[in-house]
Amino acid sequence: MMKSFLVTKNKDKFADPPKFNERKDYRPADVKETGLSFVGHEISEDRTVINQFLHYDQLYTIRHGWNSRFFIGLLDGKIMGTRCPKCGDSWVPVRTHCWNLNCKLQKTEWVEMPLTAKVHTWTIAGWSGRSSLKRLPIILVYASIGTSKVAMANELHGINPWDVEFGMPLKIVFKPKEQRVGAVIDFHFEPVDFWKPSPMNEEKQRIKDLVTPVYEWVKTLK
Ligand SMILES: [Zn+2]
Repeated sequence: MMKSFLVTKNKDKFADPPKFNERKDYRPADVKETGLSFVGHEISEDRTVINQFLHYDQLYTIRHGWNSRFFIGLLDGKIMGTRCPKCGDSWVPVRTHCWNLNCKLQKTEWVEMPLTAKVHTWTIAGWSGRSSLKRLPIILVYASIGTSKVAMANELHGINPWDVEFGMPLKIVFKPKEQRVGAVIDFHFEPVDFWKPSPMNEEKQRIKDLVTPVYEWVKTLK
């Protein structure tokens, strides 16, 4: 009894709930919320093994809270980062407080980042989940956007996998506005227009030999 009384008294500490006045619904017409349901099973010939098919379909709400401006930025075709007003360091993905000890957990401020980046590191995916098989091989890069002190992962398009280089300059390319969903899949990286790959060498050839069979295999997919 005492506890619930205290909770009621502390209510003033909480921020007012946000008023949502802009809403977009792009759920496909055939998606139904079923929650958890057993939708079938199969049993081996000798009746020693059973597979049960459990289907899970539930609507999730992701409340982004303080980070929301990053995701709203994506809908607007912008990369929003944060910056420390004391030392000037900036970050995407964002930080709420500065990491430099001298800044004593200084609260950061929002800044719009330029749509340029630099490759920090990368990998080439030769295998993936079913929905992405036809897009293989996929180049995944960790790139620093603008002056960001941390790197962000996303796909790199418009280049042969063997031509990627450390530190190479990239641009950020957004999907058309009507296709954006407020997630990092709203954009990808591409080499900047002036970038030219370096000549073929032994390491590049090694990567090319590795990914060539992947291209061949993807061609066989229906
Ligand atoms: Zn700082």
